[in-house]
Amino acid sequence: MTKAENEKRQQASDVRRLMQRIHTMAALLIAASVLVGGFNMDRALTNNAADAEIINIAGAQRMLSQRIAALSLLVQDSRGKEQERYLKALDDAHSRMLNGHLFLTAGPNGQSTPAWTNSALKAHYSPDGRDLDGRVTRFLTRTQQLIKAPQNLSGSFAVADFTDLDALLADLDLAVSLYETNAKRKIKTAEALLKQSTLVALITLFFVAIFVFRPIAKTASGALKQSESELEERSELLSRSFNIAGMGYWLNRVDRPTELWISDELAALYRIEPVARWLTLEEVKNLAQDQNNDVISLAARTCRDTGEPQYVETCIKTGDGTLVDICTSIAAKRDDTGAVESITGVVRDITKEIEARNTIHATVERLRQRTSDLREAQELGNIALWRMPLGEREMELNEDAYQLMRYNFDDSDRYRSKIGDNSSKGTHLRALCLGDSFERIVETSREVFQTGKSAQVAILARRGDGTVADLNVRIKLQRSPEGKPTALFGTMQDITEAKEAERQLEQLAYYDHLTGLSNRTLFMRRLEAICKDARQSGSSYALVLIDLDDFKEINDGLGHQAGDDFLCEIGRRLSQLAGPRNLVARLGGDEFAILISNQETKEDVRRLVAAMLSSMAVPFRVGAAEAMGGGSAGICMLPTHTAEASEALRFADLALYDAKESGRNRLSFFDEAMSEKLQSRLSLSRDLRTAIAGGELETHFQPIVSGQSGEVLGFETLMRWQHKEKGWISPTEFIPIAESSHLIGDIGAFALKDACRIAKTMNETSSTPIEVAVNVSAAQLWHGDLEQMVAGAIETSALAPGLLCIELTESVFVGDSMERVDALLRRLKMRGVQLALDDFGTGYSSLGYLNNLPFDKLKIDRSFVAGADVSKKRFQVLEGIVSLARGLGMKVVAEGVETASELRAVTDLRCDAIQGFYFGKPSPEAQALQVIQDINAKAHTRNLQARAAGDIAGITLPAKSA
Ligand code: C2E
Ligand code: CA
Ligand code: CA
Repeated sequence: MTKAENEKRQQASDVRRLMQRIHTMAALLIAASVLVGGFNMDRALTNNAADAEIINIAGAQRMLSQRIAALSLLVQDSRGKEQERYLKALDDAHSRMLNGHLFLTAGPNGQSTPAWTNSALKAHYSPDGRDLDGRVTRFLTRTQQLIKAPQNLSGSFAVADFTDLDALLADLDLAVSLYETNAKRKIKTAEALLKQSTLVALITLFFVAIFVFRPIAKTASGALKQSESELEERSELLSRSFNIAGMGYWLNRVDRPTELWISDELAALYRIEPVARWLTLEEVKNLAQDQNNDVISLAARTCRDTGEPQYVETCIKTGDGTLVDICTSIAAKRDDTGAVESITGVVRDITKEIEARNTIHATVERLRQRTSDLREAQELGNIALWRMPLGEREMELNEDAYQLMRYNFDDSDRYRSKIGDNSSKGTHLRALCLGDSFERIVETSREVFQTGKSAQVAILARRGDGTVADLNVRIKLQRSPEGKPTALFGTMQDITEAKEAERQLEQLAYYDHLTGLSNRTLFMRRLEAICKDARQSGSSYALVLIDLDDFKEINDGLGHQAGDDFLCEIGRRLSQLAGPRNLVARLGGDEFAILISNQETKEDVRRLVAAMLSSMAVPFRVGAAEAMGGGSAGICMLPTHTAEASEALRFADLALYDAKESGRNRLSFFDEAMSEKLQSRLSLSRDLRTAIAGGELETHFQPIVSGQSGEVLGFETLMRWQHKEKGWISPTEFIPIAESSHLIGDIGAFALKDACRIAKTMNETSSTPIEVAVNVSAAQLWHGDLEQMVAGAIETSALAPGLLCIELTESVFVGDSMERVDALLRRLKMRGVQLALDDFGTGYSSLGYLNNLPFDKLKIDRSFVAGADVSKKRFQVLEGIVSLARGLGMKVVAEGVETASELRAVTDLRCDAIQGFYFGKPSPEAQALQVIQDINAKAHTRNLQARAAGDIAGITLPAKSA
């Protein structure tokens, strides 16, 4: 150590010497620069003094010349003493000018002219080569002559020399000012020089000080101090480092194996007082209890035995009871022979490290868990990741994406889907996308790139196994830390199942579950859309409403399953004919609608709808049975008729109504008249409400005559309405209105009551019993309490029930169950009332029910009677119907007999009763009795004639040809 200190001290004195040298050098440098500056300044000042002198003299020369000129004039003009004085002054001026001139040309006090004076003179006196010197000399010579011989004044001198004097003076002036300028410049240069040299000196000094002197001085003093404190620091540092690192050490010597030296730092680590002595191993173990089966002792022994370094980690209970995690690195020190001399253990507090390690471990575990959760979520949600670095043509997909797209991950270059690059291998993204999916991806990506906002797009893509997937692709923009866009990335989710569910929901919401056709909701939407387009673009469309004619029968007769199958079949046939561009909907029940969108003409539409109606009429097989459809269609053209959805529907409905009215399997286009008809229907329905109470309804009577005797059997009551403004209104017009507006109940009740009442009175006065037939509408059967009504009417009128006949048409069997009608009819029969089936042959007649239902009479419709007298075929049909009725055990009433020949035809067929204009039109109550008398009287006459003629037939016609 002393050696090192000596070295340090030697260094210090070297440094001090060096510093002294530097100080001297600096001083010398300053002195030198001051000297240089001073010399420069001095030279400049000396020059200046001489120059100033010259300026003065030159100035004086000029003044003297002026003075001489002035004195010369005075000498010329004066005489005597005055002239002498002037001459003397002139002389004086002359000698001074001469002296000055000599000074300037020859140097001060006649010394040899210095070089600078000569050059200065040259500069002053002949700056441009003019002989100023010579001219001054000549001027002075002339002046001398003047002084010496003033009497010669009037000679040539006066004029010539003084003229020249002016020029001389001007030149002198010029010389002086030139010199002045020169001199000033020179002074300036000298001053600048001085400044420069001073500056150079100072700068040099500065740099020397900064770069040479200062570092050396610093190093020197630093080195000195350092050497003095270094040793001290070194030991302190060691101790501090141990403290900072939470370390300490112990020492164990082989020759004292049971003793341990522990450093102060280790004592601190063990939270015990510093011990300045060797401790026994037992003591140490008590002070710091190894919580881990004495692993330190074990490691120490191993190191001592083998000389190999050891490392152990354990936890100890310290002096104050706290638990501290420590690690101990044990190393052996060997002697010259290589034997282990001692071992040292460096102990470090690793509590924080262990904590950190645990935290890291926990974090890693959490991260692992989250990653696996995320993976699971991705798997569950069918989500995969993709990335597309900008400027590259390949897309990066993660493994999930391969799985999601059902591709083999190993076959990876198939998935590095190339975008826009058809040449290289790999699956082109465009090829994976179906429909316009690719274009939509590109479009959305562009949008994301431009706005920086993320977006998503639903696409259809083909999977590796050929199936089609609905994918939801999310697209985001990835940026570098500087904010520069680097890639597009995002997720892709397989939403096929969700889409499928969506489609099923849509199917439920918009499609008819039975036929699979569009339902009313979807139909209305499409209709609205079509109307909008028709309004805006004028494109033409057609709305067709179709109603099945016989559905009720099929449903009742063959069962609901057959009914359903039938509807499906009809839907299929309609769809097939409509084609993909037109929409076929089932609006409910047996109601269908078609929206024809392909802008066909009215004729085309007619042809298409007619084809549909005939297709519906093609028989349909249900098991062993056969069902036959057929329907009516109403058509509204858009925008020709209207372009408002609700109106279009109403119009098509009117047209449908019209088609139904005009017979089965018909189609009707809407026209204005229908609308008018509707209007008048509406107003009639309003008026009808008040008609009953207002006594506008009147019962009329049409006689029914016996086919045998020709006498009146009774009457059919037919309602008449005398409208206040419109006059008589036919029941064919107002009864359907009453049916649809629920007024039929009231009218029916009125008809029954009125009929029974009047029949009662008729019977009171008539010798033969008079029957009364009352028409009852099907609607009365469905809605009202017909039985009560009949019973009430009979009771009130006290008419014998057997004289009342209820006429029902076949329509009562449509829309209600056969059992209910059957039961009702039987109850009526029980009350003794007769039943007649009206309009037989026109409706839904089915032999099945005719056989079972309790009808007493069949009324054959006029359509079968008319023409039966002239057409053989018609006669045969009529004959068939009559024998059918007979076969069923019913009486036959022939309706609508107008002429004698028609009468002949029906009597030939032996109808039981006959009704028609031939015998009488419906007439008011007041005429009814008269009608009976007239008919009976005629019959009586005819019968007498017939008996006389031996004819058996009840009614004998005048002649066959009539
Ligand atoms: P319907 O029951 O078939 O009545 C017979 C219709 O044929 C009556 O027409 C009658 O005037 C007419 N008629 C009778 N003989 C002849 C003929 O020789 N030639 C021609 N061309 N026609 C003949 P009307 O009175 O106009 O009644 C029409 C329909 O109105 C009736 O047909 C019936 O269904 C219904 N109706 C009439 N009154 C009532 C009523 O009080 N209640 C109900 N529910 N319906 C009624
Ligand atoms: Ca009738
Ligand atoms: Ca009838």
